Amino acid sequence: MLVLQIDDIKKIIEKIGFKQYFLKLIDTIEEDYKTWHDFDKMPRIATHVDGGVIELMPISNKSQYSFKYVNGHPKNPKASNKLTVMATGQLSVVETGEPLMFSEMTVLTAFRTAATSALAAKYLAPKDSQVLAIIGNGAQSEFQYLAFSYIFDIKELRYFDVDCLAMEKMAENLKQYDVKLTPCKDAKQCVEGADIITTVTADKKYQTILSKEMIKKDVFINALGGDCPGKTELSSELVKDSHVVVEFLEQSKIEGEIQHLGDDYVCPELHEIVNKEVNLNVSKDGTIIFDSVGFALQDYSVLRLTYELAKEHDIGVELNLIPEMSDVKDLYSLV
Ligand code: NAD
Repeated sequence: MLVLQIDDIKKIIEKIGFKQYFLKLIDTIEEDYKTWHDFDKMPRIATHVDGGVIELMPISNKSQYSFKYVNGHPKNPKASNKLTVMATGQLSVVETGEPLMFSEMTVLTAFRTAATSALAAKYLAPKDSQVLAIIGNGAQSEFQYLAFSYIFDIKELRYFDVDCLAMEKMAENLKQYDVKLTPCKDAKQCVEGADIITTVTADKKYQTILSKEMIKKDVFINALGGDCPGKTELSSELVKDSHVVVEFLEQSKIEGEIQHLGDDYVCPELHEIVNKEVNLNVSKDGTIIFDSVGFALQDYSVLRLTYELAKEHDIGVELNLIPEMSDVKDLYSLV
């Protein structure tokens, strides 16, 4: 069984480059969203614990099955110098059930989340968007900037975090890119003049990172940090007064910004946008919120693409995790 470690993901990126990897990933996610109805889907299985959540995210179509194990513990960085979000995942063959690959998915989650944000923005944000604001400059933030920069001509990145060390870290990592970096003193200043706003903060409570009064012009809001019951980032007035697009309504009603709006609330899902069944854009429809919580399909896409690239470039190690034997009924002989 192929096993991919963090160094293997790094090798893949070094082989093909950030831009190519991101563009391939955006295409792969888009391709999979086009076959949305072929997937067997369910909301993720969440185990809520003190200060966090641990989730299992399975999905399959006729040929492959994947699952991701992921946590969300916002206190981790301060309390134990561990990441807020950590993940591993597996890809298997449906016909036989044989596991194909086990992979690190902490880094892959950052890639797939940013690629999904960029895919949603490709359809929903004004084509000429140039100013990106990122509120929350932790682990996901650089990936967010990069993915947007490959789809839009981003000239200015405005950024804010309550932790100034996180702001400095992000600026240091991004200084090599051709973009004006504008540090801001608060979220209100950060969103001034922005065309696209990503909120990617972590705190397990109802926060109001953005309220209606702060939004002075129509804008695409890519809201990522509200992804759990009791954990949101936007005021309910802002959500009520905007067009909202979600990944999978059944899951988003439990976990997304729309948890404030009650069980009967309905809005389009991303596959309807990608398949052009619903046509929305900030330029003609006003402020649009992509209320992203993360969905298993995006994990499937990143695992599928990364497996193909790992095979193509001979990256990763084969580990003896699944028995291979001439008499498959003689398992006992292995021990
Ligand atoms: P992180 O802990 O590395 O970074 C979060 C940052 O938010 C921290 O630097 C923190 O100081 C900052 N922050 C907290 N409250 C803030 C506030 N009120 N104003 C400004 N900054 C604030 O976490 P991460 O891995 O970057 O993830 C960020 C969030 O995104 C988490 O809530 C996580 O659950 C979520 N997430 C969502 C998806 C998705 O698919 N939607 C995927 C990955 C992560």
